[in-house]
Amino acid sequence: MSKSFFENVLEQIDATAENMSLDSGIHKMLRQPERELTVAIPIEKDTGEIEVYTGYRVQHNSARGPCKGGIRYHPDTNLDEVKALATLMSLKCAVANVPFGGAKGGVTCTPSKLSKKELQKLTKRYAAMILPIIGPRSDIPAPDVNTNAETMGWIMDAISMYKGSTVLDIVTGKPLELGGSLGRREATGRGVMINTVELLKKLNKNPKETSIAVQGFGNVGSISAELLVEQGCTINAISDVSGGLYNPDGLDIPKITKYVNSKPQISLLKDYNRKKDDEIISNQDLLELDIDVLVPAALENQIHSDNADNIKAEIIVEGANGPVTKKGDEILSERRIYIIPDILANSGGVVVSYFEWVQGIQSFFWGVDEVNKNLKNILLKSFDEVWKISKEEKATLRDAAFLLAMGKIAKATELRGIFP
Ligand code: GLU
Repeated sequence: MSKSFFENVLEQIDATAENMSLDSGIHKMLRQPERELTVAIPIEKDTGEIEVYTGYRVQHNSARGPCKGGIRYHPDTNLDEVKALATLMSLKCAVANVPFGGAKGGVTCTPSKLSKKELQKLTKRYAAMILPIIGPRSDIPAPDVNTNAETMGWIMDAISMYKGSTVLDIVTGKPLELGGSLGRREATGRGVMINTVELLKKLNKNPKETSIAVQGFGNVGSISAELLVEQGCTINAISDVSGGLYNPDGLDIPKITKYVNSKPQISLLKDYNRKKDDEIISNQDLLELDIDVLVPAALENQIHSDNADNIKAEIIVEGANGPVTKKGDEILSERRIYIIPDILANSGGVVVSYFEWVQGIQSFFWGVDEVNKNLKNILLKSFDEVWKISKEEKATLRDAAFLLAMGKIAKATELRGIFP
């Protein structure tokens, strides 16, 4: 039987722990989330019927600061997935050197089957149920798959009603009108672009001669594609849940983005009025295209032992969390394919979440140029640190990023000492 997402993350932690001769006590601490909460979320549907959904909030490690991480709405969301994602958040915050630990939340539901009113009820009830463990100084949620600024506004409202006054800094990724940060919506995609361009530079490759396929056309995939086009790259293929589009000469990304943004909840690529020479492909075909860079920006476990041998890209940039399984990773590394790991590649989102949190605390908001400049500085520094470790240790970029992150968490744990 194939390993679960959390088991895959643990395998990478175990391998890194051995590699760095990590103290066995700290290793044990990193293998187990600090706190796991499962909640029942009853809501009255528009029909008057009561439906009960299941939600989770997992806090993996708070040695370096308050826990931080998104909330996802997806039919396949389960506790194992949320534990894996919370663990990756602790490591991601450590790589970026933002003063947070890691958390993640999720609700098992199909958002496209819920009306806006039902989604708002679900969100507010979920927020109320996880209220005992979240807070601006303890655990700060943010958007993830199928959640966005509007969702964060609803959470902020629910918590504020309980507290009796408006608590803006309970979540990040909020609407601008409610204390959000300029540049937050684009931040994860911008980070994917910055990391991709940086690796191309290290490998002496010209973005203008780089062909790219992007799996997933949500917030991360669509913005990564748009910004990579601005850098001169050609996006040859994209996909969403309904399938993909391919054009050997490059797709018209601005036009497709405009179509998708026109009705964000329901616009599917299969319904897009495509150009005559745009071909329809499957998600699997997209992964195996003969292109230079592959950006999996959808869900976990997309590249695994059964398809890793068929990947033709020279570079993989993990826009999604956990898109490559441990076995898939081993096959790709043996084949010398460069992978910018999730905990580095998609860290732009949490970095600007940190900026939003800081701006909120200071009640002083920055211009978009300042946000983007600070984001670039942090990401380039992390990239360089990871690159340097990978050269010194002759390690893959994933192994190097895990070494960096686990080293920082271990140091923080040692400095604090074990309570009591
Ligand atoms: N959900 C995003 C991630 O996986 C952002 C988390 C945040 O901003 O707290 O990194």
